[in-house]
Amino acid sequence: MPKRINFGKLIEKQLPAELVNFMWVAGEIAHTRGEKLYLVGGVVRDLLLGQANLDLDLVVEGNAIELAQQLKKINKGKITTHPRFNTAKLQWDNWSVDLATARSETYDKPGALPTVKPSSIDDDLSRRDFTINAMAIGLNPGYYGRPVDPHGGRDDLKSKLIRVLHGQSFTDDATRIWRGLRYEQRLDFHLERKTLKLLQRDIPMLDTISADRIRYEVECILKEKYPEKVFRRAEELEVLPKLHPALKGNGWLAERFEQARKLSFPALPEVGLYLALLAYPLTSEETERLISRLRLPKSLAQNLRDTIALKGKMRLLATPGLSPSGIYRLLAPYSSPAMVANSLATESPAASQNIHMYLTRLKYIEISLTGDDLMRLGVAPGPHIREIIELLHKARLDGKITSKQDEVDLVKGWLAAKQMK
Ligand code: ATP
Repeated sequence: MPKRINFGKLIEKQLPAELVNFMWVAGEIAHTRGEKLYLVGGVVRDLLLGQANLDLDLVVEGNAIELAQQLKKINKGKITTHPRFNTAKLQWDNWSVDLATARSETYDKPGALPTVKPSSIDDDLSRRDFTINAMAIGLNPGYYGRPVDPHGGRDDLKSKLIRVLHGQSFTDDATRIWRGLRYEQRLDFHLERKTLKLLQRDIPMLDTISADRIRYEVECILKEKYPEKVFRRAEELEVLPKLHPALKGNGWLAERFEQARKLSFPALPEVGLYLALLAYPLTSEETERLISRLRLPKSLAQNLRDTIALKGKMRLLATPGLSPSGIYRLLAPYSSPAMVANSLATESPAASQNIHMYLTRLKYIEISLTGDDLMRLGVAPGPHIREIIELLHKARLDGKITSKQDEVDLVKGWLAAKQMK
């Protein structure tokens, strides 16, 4: 038996007073409505682990939208409701709380979204992914701080185990495979023996999951502190090939992710940079398959295409004596994350330095004269304008001119040469 924990105290100790007060009031209002309110899911897990988590998920045995509307009157926040799912989000100041109606779920078909019905907290916990995420804490007066842990979540937290609630869990929803690896690696836990077997058995079920849901899981992984650990484990368990068979979760990737973090510090690397490094070993055909498996939005897809296209230009980019304007011409068509990814991935220090030069200096170089200025100087409107602008820009990049006056002189020289012809 786990030792008795005073959850009320735990909440007060770990959560900001404003959220604690909110939960008190919410529990009292639910009580007056004859409903029971609970704090559930990840935040309960993290309270027990002593880790910060301010994403409050509340579940009510009753009507979440009506309760949220009543709560909104008190904290004067914003409310967003989803009547189809009977859920609501309350936002005020910097806080955000999700409220859901306790529900049961049945899966008509693997991978499809479940049919849901209002139900009890026990049913609501039984539909969840892992025991450590299937705990709740009562918030009503008289129940405040009372734990609800029907699946042994606290025992599993102590033993550092990720365990599904039943044998059909991964079949019902194979996104739980990715979720399981993510929690295992984030928390430094282990997949419980039977859960591991079920996971391996159900890897083919990942094919039943829509692109949007898989992309969401990949994005969640890329927001982890060490996404490479999840990809390494996914390779080991042969889950990674379900994203694309040519992807690698090896030491090379881990080193590049680490470098990407150093480069982006104190922020985290953008998803686009991580994805570009992950996709780096792929050919352009393979990249297209990954893009469609994840139905990547336009900019992320373009970023991957740029990464692979630029990979093919790295030899040229390493050419000794390449001029700044030559570097500019090679790199300008590509996105910044694609350049950074190539710079981290290349074996060529020269190519990497040239990318650095582009990103820190060349891309900011502009000319001073405008099209109107050029016409005032006597350049005829039409294609010549563009030609001269490019000439000026090239001269600026290569340091041949450095001031507005230099630009004027160059234009005058160009016009004179034109007249001589
Ligand atoms: P994180 O720390 O990654 O945000 P979380 O536990 O808060 O973790 P969410 O994805 O926000 O995770 O989901 C909230 C809760 O909903 C989970 O704790 C879990 O109980 C449940 N849940 C989420 N996704 C699933 C799923 N695919 N199957 C079953 N239960 C799920």
